[in-house]
Amino acid sequence: MKVTGDQALVKKINKSIVLHTIRKHSPISRAKVSEMTGLNKATVSNLVAELCNEQLVTEAGPGISSGGRKPLILHFNSMAGSVVGIELGVKQITAVLCDLGGGILEEIHRPLDNHQLPHVLGEMKGMIASLIATAPNTPYGIVGIGAGVPGMVDENGVVLFAPNLGWEMVELRALLEKEFGVPVTVDNEANAGAQGELNFGVARDIRHLLYISAGAGIGSGIIIGGELYKGARGYAGETGHMSIEADGQPCSCGNRGCWELYASEKTYDQPDLHLPARTTPELVRYAEIGQEDALRHFNVMGEALGIGLTNVINSFNPELIVIGGTLSVARDWLIEPLQRVVAERTLPYHKQQLQIIFSELGSRGAMIGAAFAAVMHFLGDTRVTL
Ligand SMILES: [Zn+2]
Repeated sequence: MKVTGDQALVKKINKSIVLHTIRKHSPISRAKVSEMTGLNKATVSNLVAELCNEQLVTEAGPGISSGGRKPLILHFNSMAGSVVGIELGVKQITAVLCDLGGGILEEIHRPLDNHQLPHVLGEMKGMIASLIATAPNTPYGIVGIGAGVPGMVDENGVVLFAPNLGWEMVELRALLEKEFGVPVTVDNEANAGAQGELNFGVARDIRHLLYISAGAGIGSGIIIGGELYKGARGYAGETGHMSIEADGQPCSCGNRGCWELYASEKTYDQPDLHLPARTTPELVRYAEIGQEDALRHFNVMGEALGIGLTNVINSFNPELIVIGGTLSVARDWLIEPLQRVVAERTLPYHKQQLQIIFSELGSRGAMIGAAFAAVMHFLGDTRVTL
């Protein structure tokens, strides 16, 4: 692509910078946009006029003036359209209808016990259609669908391999685009969760983040320098398959002693284990009344989470680790053993100024992040980080 001297491209980039500055810092004055972007006031005013025409930005006022005429304040118009975010889990499907600012308008859940593609696809389509039916009347209507899936996804939205669903080579993006006629983005659920935390959750403005999705397995979304790190082909973050026991149990991935065999809901499948229940929400209820097997098991899982976390902390030196996914509801029982193991084992410099927290979005991070990916796709791919 020819880039040098292309005025149309420069304008497109500048317009994108102005739009995303308003989106992130709304409400904001034109003068402040000019100051934050380094673009002169005339350029900002022209671009804002176009964005107002396109109904992506609205103005209201007056704002606070340092003297003279009071300025109008710019708002990102999050009600210019809406998106659907859907997370395909191993045991459930959850979906939201969001505005363009990540505000949840509607939310639905369905349990999942059959992973055959026609069944899963039928459920997903039904949920998406019912959310679309509730969408408010907006200038752009439904502008996209974002999906988070528990597996590896290529740049064309093909689910290459999802071991916990038994899926290989599923053209999910194409299948959903054909059904709904709007752009669809598909990403790994941990990557989607990381985007959710970064944009709407506890990790706003964090530059170096590890988002750990702990549930039916373990996956990680890795943010380096404010950007999602996907690796050479897009498959980075499969930390659940890092060995924490050299001669440990065999894993479905071909390796042995994988982290997720010791620190995820996969532990509930061990037949010789004494457990009063085999799902996280039920075990949490037992832990709340002090049932000893449940307490002991969460303690063992918390320690195993800490061992794997030590490996990724030593590797990536993050500022913040956010633990999300369905296991995050067991926070109160996992946090102490997890923090203790990390404190005992992590290299001293890596521990400094490191925070480990559980997600406030909980198990909703991935679908909200998936919705965000759809919003970003609609607002344009020419994203420039300031
Ligand atoms: Zn494995």
